[in-house]
Amino acid sequence: MVQCVSILGSTGSIGRQTLDIVDNLQIPVAALTAGTNAERMAQQCRKYRPRLAVMATEDAAEKLRNAISDLPTKVLWGEEGLIAAATVQEADCVITAVMGMVGLKPTLAAIAAGKRIGLANKETLVCAGELVMAAVKRHNVEMIPVDSEHSAIFQCLMGNSRKREIKRIVLTCSGGPFFGMTPEQLQTVTKADALRHPNWKMGPKITIDCATLMNKGLEVIEAMRLYDLPLEQVDVVIHRQSIVHSMVEFVDGAVMAQLGSPDMRLPIQLAMTYPERMECPVEGLDLLTCGSLTFAEPDMEAFPCLALARKCAKLGGTACAAMNGANEEAVARYLDDQIGFYDIYRLVSNAVDAVPLITEPTLEEILEADRLARQAVREMLP
Ligand code: NDP
Ligand code: MG
Repeated sequence: MVQCVSILGSTGSIGRQTLDIVDNLQIPVAALTAGTNAERMAQQCRKYRPRLAVMATEDAAEKLRNAISDLPTKVLWGEEGLIAAATVQEADCVITAVMGMVGLKPTLAAIAAGKRIGLANKETLVCAGELVMAAVKRHNVEMIPVDSEHSAIFQCLMGNSRKREIKRIVLTCSGGPFFGMTPEQLQTVTKADALRHPNWKMGPKITIDCATLMNKGLEVIEAMRLYDLPLEQVDVVIHRQSIVHSMVEFVDGAVMAQLGSPDMRLPIQLAMTYPERMECPVEGLDLLTCGSLTFAEPDMEAFPCLALARKCAKLGGTACAAMNGANEEAVARYLDDQIGFYDIYRLVSNAVDAVPLITEPTLEEILEADRLARQAVREMLP
């Protein structure tokens, strides 16, 4: 079990659930970071007394400084601050729960500093998975997924990490709020509908990604990078109940699955207690009352973002970074009521085509692909 944590994105959905687990395990917190929510960060600082607190902007940092001037907590801001939080000396584990590509450099810094990574920030692996996993190997650190599907795979492989024995991974997907709808019906859905996920309460960006199925596309790429598997060995199946969190099929035909109530605190806690398991404040699974478990094929025509992500995974190089950057930009516009539901796919797909593909990119080339893709989306806006 880890001794002390730093939480990047502590005011968000995963960040707050991580703090629940910190309460449960009674582990000290060395650093906390947030975007602009200085009020919630001030409350967290009062309770957890971190040595370091970081905000995204100078303004927000100033607000926080004023709110906690009686505490010894040091307040920083911006990318430099995030990197300081990711490498803070006392922590032996960093939970990356920021939203988006902004998590990439801090994650690389934490790896270089030898920290265990509890990875929620999937965008990092989507954009630069090869570089990140190479760094994990080089620095011999543990990268433990927090994403429920990838944690499930991790658990299915605990005690059996022989890659040649894996036939395929099957990621389960709830299908989101629009499961079963036709492309025509999807023309008229509202943002409020999209934000109503049937099984999980999450931050707004990932909730929209779940409605378009882009989230599952990002997760296919995340799984390829984490487990070093080709696209052909990562499948997706719709499972409305979110009870089976994912499966591994082995070459002899055996299938291992991890089941549990849909509650992110279980994978968050495991990332901190691994290789141990400890009691967790999560409701147990009762198979006799949880209803039937169903499985179906995803509809790639109604939800083209999943097919687009598979295409980018096949292209490799900077394609995934371009797709992710364009998606972050498009979803922000959608949340801001500037574009419609299918515009997300259209903009992301066009942006991927507009950004030159570079194979085996450097970190700078990945960051540039991200920037170009965001710019391409902005230029296509009405
Ligand atoms: P939220 O939007 O709830 O939280 C995001 C966190 O990042 C907040 O602390 C926010 O601060 C901070 N933040 C936002 N923008 C910036 C920025 N520019 N610079 C620094 N910090 C920033 O997201 P979630 O918790 O839902 O998701 C976090 C990550 O975990 C995502 O990558 C998501 O894909 C992944 N994930 C989430 C799951 C979930 O159940 N929520 C499940 C699986 C994966 P502030 O509060 O100040 O805005
Ligand atoms: Mg997931």
